[in-house]
Amino acid sequence: MKKNHSSRRSFIYQTAITALGVPLFSSFSNPAFITKNKKTMNTNKKLGVALVGLGSYAGGQLAPALQQTEHCYLAGIVTGTPSKAEVWKEKYNIPDKNIYNYQNFDSIKDNPDIDIVYVVLPNSMHAEYTIRAAQAGKHVICEKPMALSVADCDMMIAACKKANKFLSIGYRLHFDPYNLEMVRLAKEKVYGDIKKISAAFSFVAQKGIWRLDKKLAGGGPLMDLGVYCMQGVMYTTDMEPIAVTAQTFPISDKEKFIDVEETLAWQMEMPNGLIAECRTSYSESANFLKVEGEKGSFELQPAYNYSGLKGKTSDGKIMEYPKLSQQAKQMDGIAQSIKNKTQSIVPGEMGRRDVKIIEAIYEAMRTGKRVIIQK
Ligand code: NAD
Repeated sequence: MKKNHSSRRSFIYQTAITALGVPLFSSFSNPAFITKNKKTMNTNKKLGVALVGLGSYAGGQLAPALQQTEHCYLAGIVTGTPSKAEVWKEKYNIPDKNIYNYQNFDSIKDNPDIDIVYVVLPNSMHAEYTIRAAQAGKHVICEKPMALSVADCDMMIAACKKANKFLSIGYRLHFDPYNLEMVRLAKEKVYGDIKKISAAFSFVAQKGIWRLDKKLAGGGPLMDLGVYCMQGVMYTTDMEPIAVTAQTFPISDKEKFIDVEETLAWQMEMPNGLIAECRTSYSESANFLKVEGEKGSFELQPAYNYSGLKGKTSDGKIMEYPKLSQQAKQMDGIAQSIKNKTQSIVPGEMGRRDVKIIEAIYEAMRTGKRVIIQK
């Protein structure tokens, strides 16, 4: 497709985030909680973030992004591996007093340098470390998926409320200009009402990783990748599913996929009758969010990567934005919300909603039945 240079300028990131961010997700804000948090805070101060779990996402994406953020910075680390602590200490100039392990983590409560604890551990550990961080009096960012069950999400939300601290989920695409443009095109009905929407996110997983171990991951690609498809459908349509159906497929490698699904297709029935078609797999490659409206279509492919996203419309417009760090935008957005004493646009309640839908999809997969999502 030929690039339409004049149309590029109409895809303005700042407009999109300002126009769409707050109203879209405002159903998650909690005025009672916000009022309790009315202590004033020096808004010029950068908030100190401690990363818990120094794996590939923390090391490859979050720590570099925290070198670019304006409202927060990398103040501390929590790791079970002393050699990693040494490397990070040198690389990011982290003082010894801000380095913790999993045993002495709770003493982080006495450290005023740390305002936010960012949990970047395997999924099964999210609940425990979020609750411990809240009990230590810290705001929390928890990676996706929020937890392995709605019951755990409830305990995490309750712990943060009790501590009077904010809980956000590490959803980065709510801060990404390409995905926000999909939201704008849908919201403004530029291509009319949505007639079809589909999303897929898959990659080939290596044998032996924790993502294939149900105890640590909670499930297979649905927990890890499918959550992006669910989210893409929900923020684009501005609707939540009322029911789901799901189909799984014969396992190709029984040694690799012992207790998690390999490939899953599912459908989300939206309140207006629209059926969203989604698919995720650890044995395929796919990465898109496609929308067909009455008057044309718009899509991202790839849709969920950290960078290099590509968007186009049926009338030849190409989405193109300056390179940015999604994670820097995400952490700055969350830090700004904390400074302003408001919920972020990606609160714990949103993570809980998504875990509830995941539970329904797994039930539909197991039973072969249409599962209604309880309000
Ligand atoms: P990883 O395997 O690279 O890192 C996991 C970290 O947890 C490692 O430092 C490991 O040492 C530590 N750990 C502590 N206890 C462990 C245990 N019992 N088993 C395994 N590791 C243990 O994983 P990752 O890719 O960095 O993912 C971490 C979290 O971040 C996951 O919840 C994942 O879903 C999320 N994530 C989010 C994004 C995103 O774009 N938002 C991207 C990647 C990962």
